[in-house]
Amino acid sequence: MTCDFVQIPGGGTAIVCSTRRRQRCACGRPATRLCDWKVASKKSGTCDVPLCSQCTTSPARDKDLCATHVAAYADWQAEHGIPQQQLELPA
Ligand SMILES: [Zn+2]
Ligand SMILES: [Zn+2]
Repeated sequence: MTCDFVQIPGGGTAIVCSTRRRQRCACGRPATRLCDWKVASKKSGTCDVPLCSQCTTSPARDKDLCATHVAAYADWQAEHGIPQQQLELPA
């Protein structure tokens, strides 16, 4: 569990403790996004693997995929006869 000392807008401070707020990517960097691949079995409906800006792959604006689902996405494209586009990799 991590605890953060946060400033409350308008004055004052609070300590916020959470096991979920500071997620880390598999590489160890702080995660700034989650995999958006649709997973029906998950409560949230998406994969939600935490990803950092270095490890994500964005097939579309505001969409992020983990390494596993980049492969699944490529398979999906092939299955549907969609020409494989150059995936936009983060710089
Ligand atoms: Zn990473
Ligand atoms: Zn994923």
